[in-house]
Amino acid sequence: MKHKTEYIFVVGGVMSGVGKGITAASIAKIIQSRGIETTSVKIDPYVNVDAGTMNPTEHGEVFVLDDGTECDQDMGNYERFLNRSLTKTNYMTTGSVYLSVIQKERNLEYGGRQVEVVPRIPLEVLDRLERAAAKNKAQVVVTEIGGTVGEYENILFLEAVRMLKLKNPDDVALVLVSFVPALGAGGTELKTKPTQHAVRSLNSVGLHPDFIMARAHMPLDKKRKEKLEFMCSIDKGNVISAPNVANLYDVPISFEKDKLGEKILSKLKMKPRSRDMKEWKKLSEAAKRSKEEVKIGIVGKYFGSGDFTLTDSYISVIEAVKHAAYALKKRVLIEWLDSHEFEKSPKSLKKLSDYGGVIVPGGFGSRGIEGKISAIRYCRENKVPYFGLCYGMQLAIVEFARDVVKMGKANTTEINPRTPFPVVDILAEQKKNVETKNYGGTMRLGAYPALLKKGTIAEKAYGCGKISERHRHRYEVNPKYIERMEKKGLVFSGISPDRRLMEIAELPKSTHPFFLGTQFHPEFKSRPLQPHPLFVEFIKCASLQKKTTKNRKAR
Ligand code: GLN
Repeated sequence: MKHKTEYIFVVGGVMSGVGKGITAASIAKIIQSRGIETTSVKIDPYVNVDAGTMNPTEHGEVFVLDDGTECDQDMGNYERFLNRSLTKTNYMTTGSVYLSVIQKERNLEYGGRQVEVVPRIPLEVLDRLERAAAKNKAQVVVTEIGGTVGEYENILFLEAVRMLKLKNPDDVALVLVSFVPALGAGGTELKTKPTQHAVRSLNSVGLHPDFIMARAHMPLDKKRKEKLEFMCSIDKGNVISAPNVANLYDVPISFEKDKLGEKILSKLKMKPRSRDMKEWKKLSEAAKRSKEEVKIGIVGKYFGSGDFTLTDSYISVIEAVKHAAYALKKRVLIEWLDSHEFEKSPKSLKKLSDYGGVIVPGGFGSRGIEGKISAIRYCRENKVPYFGLCYGMQLAIVEFARDVVKMGKANTTEINPRTPFPVVDILAEQKKNVETKNYGGTMRLGAYPALLKKGTIAEKAYGCGKISERHRHRYEVNPKYIERMEKKGLVFSGISPDRRLMEIAELPKSTHPFFLGTQFHPEFKSRPLQPHPLFVEFIKCASLQKKTTKNRKAR
């Protein structure tokens, strides 16, 4: 049966960074939990065509979809909350929308007419939302519009909402996520004025919110809710408390306390449906009940002065660690280790023994590299569980080649193009892209299959012989050196079906509790309800290390 598509838009007021992405993901979750097929779309207002060319310290993690789309970290939240793999139809930027309109104009698709910003840009946006609904077979599309109302940049996206609402008023719900600051000693006096101003900003572009999500450090009291309803002309009961919660997976549960799902369905004139959040609640309970703590160190270099925190830069890694820990009923404490420190004072490497396990995540360029390599060596020699993700795998190869295979100056050509032992080298098909500075969207991106070697840690963890994982890299293990490394004990347990590319490298269990690196990014496929098998195996080994510290604040 063909049915109408319903649209929920989530916009931000007052300021950024108040959790609009998690709010949008949670709204999608509570609709989906009613058995309604729901998908999530992210609109980013920047001119970049995708997130691939942005530095994580500027923008946060670059998330990668199965189809190779490099996008905003919120897309990761959507996949994790909805437990669905999304596609490029679920993501757009000002740059990508303009690019299609300009391409259509060049192809004479506007029939010789003058192409005006309004309505062409908003119509292109709406067209894409329709495509997202069709591609994901979704009845409800939850779209998060990046930025904050009142800014110049997202105005054409808000115009798209206005046009759609005008045409189908009953099929569009607009949600304003606003910040309600607290004043006074102890921060108990919640101030609604900034939210009132945000609503006026929305009014000035012809929109009025149906719901206000009041982000505050505590739940909004009845008086404040009534004040917002009255001052902002919001239907009774449609100001929803969005207080801080201990665990982000509790957010949908918190919204349901204010019956948000039911109210949204009613606004969209959809039949009420009972919800099933049993599995999700179990997850939230598991997170609360876990007692034994596992301490994980992440060695990185993103300690600059950008706008984004480390948590933003490595969000999928952090979440993947948490998912695995929940599944094993452990609490996890993540600590950040600056690779520069290991370069400056090699003695500090000793502290790696305090961790149940160590991760070197993905990365680019030469900053802090020797520190990372020293950390990997320490983990290998001292049998500290080590998990290398993409660059973390390539650097483990460099370390192993230098120290075990005795190829002293071995390196990746990303760092030293003239190394005598280029054990990690640029993919042949990538050379031209780098030479011609064709950087945008040209890495080896997205899902590729790999075959697993029987009896290895990887094969046992996955419990199958063929996997598909997401990639984002230009360099790979150089086939020329594989035999020499294998002779010294390194096992390539995952390889591409054409046997050209090494996808997983590991040391046998008999020689090390867990020393494994993946050329792909397993963190992108970990979900709260489907933890990634390699992360589970890693956390299991890390918890066996017994290097846990009690009574410390866990994440
Ligand atoms: N810099 C490495 C490459 O391009 C690794 C990339 C990554 O870690 N995502 O191959």
